[in-house]
Amino acid sequence: MPCCDKTKKLAMTTKHIVQGWTALAMGKKYEFTDDRVRVCQGCEDNYWIGSSLWCSICKCLIPAKARVEAEDCPRGRWPATKSLKKQKKVSPKKIREFLKI
Ligand code: SF4
Repeated sequence: MPCCDKTKKLAMTTKHIVQGWTALAMGKKYEFTDDRVRVCQGCEDNYWIGSSLWCSICKCLIPAKARVEAEDCPRGRWPATKSLKKQKKVSPKKIREFLKI
């Protein structure tokens, strides 16, 4: 991966971390936050530190990660709904079916 690609990826990751932790601190959720967290709670790749749920693959705090529409599961267990909605390829109903709600 070229250097500027790595820089872009790092900038995007940092942006998502700030977005997620800010939303978590402010108690803001979006329509699929709870559904994503439910999937992560049943995932074999999660782990707990006290009462906090983390992902062992991406090392993210799940309640923060699940608040960022552009984030996705590194194992493909839930999608980045922001890009799906933008592409108008997947309806909210299809996303719910994907999450098996
Ligand atoms: S983000 Fe994906 S891999 Fe990580 S805990 Fe959640 S469902 Fe599992």
